[in-house]
Amino acid sequence: MGLSCAGMKQLYDLRLKLREISDQLERGPRQIAARKQIINKKKEELESQRARLKQMKVAADQKNLQLKSSEARIYDLNGKLNIAANNREYEALGSQIAADTMAKSVLEDEILEALELVDVAQIDVRKVELETVAVEAELQKLVAEVQAKEAGLKEQAAALEQQVAAAETILPAEIVPQYRRLVQAYGASALAPVSNKSCSECYVSLTTQLYLELKAGGVKFCTCGRLMFVGDDE
Ligand SMILES: [Zn+2]
Repeated sequence: MGLSCAGMKQLYDLRLKLREISDQLERGPRQIAARKQIINKKKEELESQRARLKQMKVAADQKNLQLKSSEARIYDLNGKLNIAANNREYEALGSQIAADTMAKSVLEDEILEALELVDVAQIDVRKVELETVAVEAELQKLVAEVQAKEAGLKEQAAALEQQVAAAETILPAEIVPQYRRLVQAYGASALAPVSNKSCSECYVSLTTQLYLELKAGGVKFCTCGRLMFVGDDE
């Protein structure tokens, strides 16, 4: 029994359409998974930025406490200075106050720097928070789009599978097992239309005799494994 060229071409076209629909069905979940990975990375980034901000606040708070105790110490020293018993004690207290005041001024500069760092870190956190919200919103939108398309695509796939099954009835029974294995491995590419008297999958040239056999409806698998056929336009 020979194959009809038109029938094979139809089967091939249906399989290509089915592959396109299956690809679209797989694309949605793949895009969603990729988007979720991006969100997870953003959340990790946010966590570390928040931890950094917290550390900076703690550092600034510690310096503030140091400043308060330094101020208290200078206040105490000034009190002692006022009641100094002698010149030597007065001078010692005076130089201690001068040294502490210098240290306090350095500390004040450090606090200003620490507070600036806190401000910058706060801006960074806010930025990553907004980015996280944006990618999450994008994900919701994508999920909705994928869900909206899914039912229609599944219907199309089911209809195409039926049409493919109907088109496959032209295949001689003895080649069906091999054909099934090929479809399992290559999908639509299990079938190879002959183009320019060559296999369109592996480009091997056909002998004129083989070409004519195919054109007459012969059943031939190429050396690359595919089931070859000659379309109407060849
Ligand atoms: Zn081939």
